[in-house]
Amino acid sequence: MHGASSSTQFRYGGAVLAIFVATLFRIWLDSRVEGAGLAVFFIAVVIAGWYGGVGPFILAFILSLVSFSVFFPKPAEAAQDSPARVLIGLGAFFFVGLATALLSESVRAAQQRARAQAEEAIRQREKLRTTLSCIGEAVIVTDISGRLTMMNPVAERLTGWSAEQAAGRPIQEVFRISDEWTGEAVDSLVDRVLGYRNPASAVRQLLLESRDGKLRPIDYSAAPIEHQTGNTQGVVLIFRDVTQRRQAEQALRDADRRKDEFLALLAHELRNPLAPIGNALQILEMAEDNKEVTSSARQMMQRQFEHLVRLVDDLLDVSRIARGKIELRPERTSLGAVLERAVEAARPLIDSRKHELTFQLPEHPLGLYVDPVRLAQVVTNLLTNAAKYMEEGGEIVVSAHVEGDDLILSVRDTGIGIPAKMLPQVFEMFMQVEQGRTRAHGGLGIGLTLVKSIVQMHGGHVEARSNGPGEGSEFIIRLPRGTAPEAEAAQPASQLSANVRPRNILLVDDNVDAADTLASLLRARQHDVVTAFSGPAALDLAEQIQPEVVILDLGMPEMDGCEVAEELRARDEGEELVLVALTGWGGMEDRQRTAAAGFDYHFVKPAKLEEIEFAISQGRRNQPAEASP
Ligand code: ADP
Repeated sequence: MHGASSSTQFRYGGAVLAIFVATLFRIWLDSRVEGAGLAVFFIAVVIAGWYGGVGPFILAFILSLVSFSVFFPKPAEAAQDSPARVLIGLGAFFFVGLATALLSESVRAAQQRARAQAEEAIRQREKLRTTLSCIGEAVIVTDISGRLTMMNPVAERLTGWSAEQAAGRPIQEVFRISDEWTGEAVDSLVDRVLGYRNPASAVRQLLLESRDGKLRPIDYSAAPIEHQTGNTQGVVLIFRDVTQRRQAEQALRDADRRKDEFLALLAHELRNPLAPIGNALQILEMAEDNKEVTSSARQMMQRQFEHLVRLVDDLLDVSRIARGKIELRPERTSLGAVLERAVEAARPLIDSRKHELTFQLPEHPLGLYVDPVRLAQVVTNLLTNAAKYMEEGGEIVVSAHVEGDDLILSVRDTGIGIPAKMLPQVFEMFMQVEQGRTRAHGGLGIGLTLVKSIVQMHGGHVEARSNGPGEGSEFIIRLPRGTAPEAEAAQPASQLSANVRPRNILLVDDNVDAADTLASLLRARQHDVVTAFSGPAALDLAEQIQPEVVILDLGMPEMDGCEVAEELRARDEGEELVLVALTGWGGMEDRQRTAAAGFDYHFVKPAKLEEIEFAISQGRRNQPAEASP
């Protein structure tokens, strides 16, 4: 507003000044030239009209008439001019001045419009530049001749060119792409897009070469930029660095391959114990009366059975951990207790391979608040690996010390060692360093995955060290010692009752062998056991024999164990019934499902007889919870 009014004052002031100057000039001219006339005023009025527009022109015109008549009275001979001539002269004077003023106004309006359009174009360009600089993809814009006009910061980074350096260069100079597989240079899609005026995407896998020669895999597409009039103005190229995606795809492919290898390995590992078990069965049949032979066959079956159980347990554990379905059960314990449990499990293998196991432990007992079963599993896995991946007669050293609030535990061996490049990978699922050699040792490549997961669940981490093949390995665990909640009293070790009162038990499992063998074991402990092999049969039998305890498998074809449990609970006598789920499913959801169905206990197969018996002896539970690992 202020600008406009000051420019108006300036224009009108200019008109007054022009007439003033013209008057002075005319006075000066009069003293030298005869009959100078209106010419000087005419020029002043035209100038005022050209620079000031119509308003200032009219003002200048009036002022010039006033000035002329006041300062330059007509000489007597001029008075003879006819009024018509005067009028025509003045009219011409007026109209030429007015035309000049109108022409100047329209020229100025056109200039203003052009300026506004130019400013708007600059604003739009800036807006586009800002938008482009905010998006995560690289964008390059070319003109119709394929020369670069604009690029955003991501494109600058990926091509290695700055927008200023690249401006005006042919696109193929800045955007250098080649086929990832053949290495041949590939034309940008610009010509194609300009020719067909259609968007296009690269179908090949492309590498972009930046200015400094670095190659990156990219995804790339291009589209024509069309003006409202339908004219193509150029091409916009959009591309992005897909290095991470490629790596993720490669990782998936590797994981998939390892899974396939693992399945083959698993089949092999599961078959291994089956052959000796099959042989032992035959021996039992043939040498029924030979106590010595049958007892050694039984022992061998027991060993193979335990091996199978361990394999399956490990498998279940990894799958549960992978799905986040394992919960730690921390309790007050000590390093000694954990190591004792771990060594007990690994001892047979260590001894059979004639290794020497030594300990370097703190002098005083070291209290921990951890899940002792899981932590022992970790140490057992490390000890077992040390024993496996070492020539007979090697050394294993277990050492521990405290740093701050952390326990540092290391298992070191003098075995075959691990190549440096494999060190970070040995914790990956199904990862085995040397297929041939590993096959000689058995194993599924999941032991260390479990170790890492369990340690991480405890808030710690584990690291593998080795000076290379033949140089031995060391696994170092750092984990918080943990603090027990104040309220929690030291837990008494769970005691298994050796003297359980005989119960009246109904055992339900659609696997007849499983039901019969467990029934025999329970009968051997003086319980009265009746078996049923389906849900409906169990419901009928329960009505007849009125059991005190029902042990139910969950997955059964006709009627699921949970349905059977619900129905039993709903009966009059169901209130007192002790319901035990015995199943292959051990996840949190499964436990919640059995609790909701009214079960008192949930055991995962194969459960220890003592544990089942102990649970039975405890009777009904108000809050059903798990009693098995
Ligand atoms: P598995 O022993 O069943 O193959 P793990 O996950 O326990 O699976 O171990 C993964 C791999 O790491 C092994 O196959 C072996 O190659 C390597 N490894 C583990 N522990 C040791 C060790 N103490 N010495 C040498 N190599 C080891």
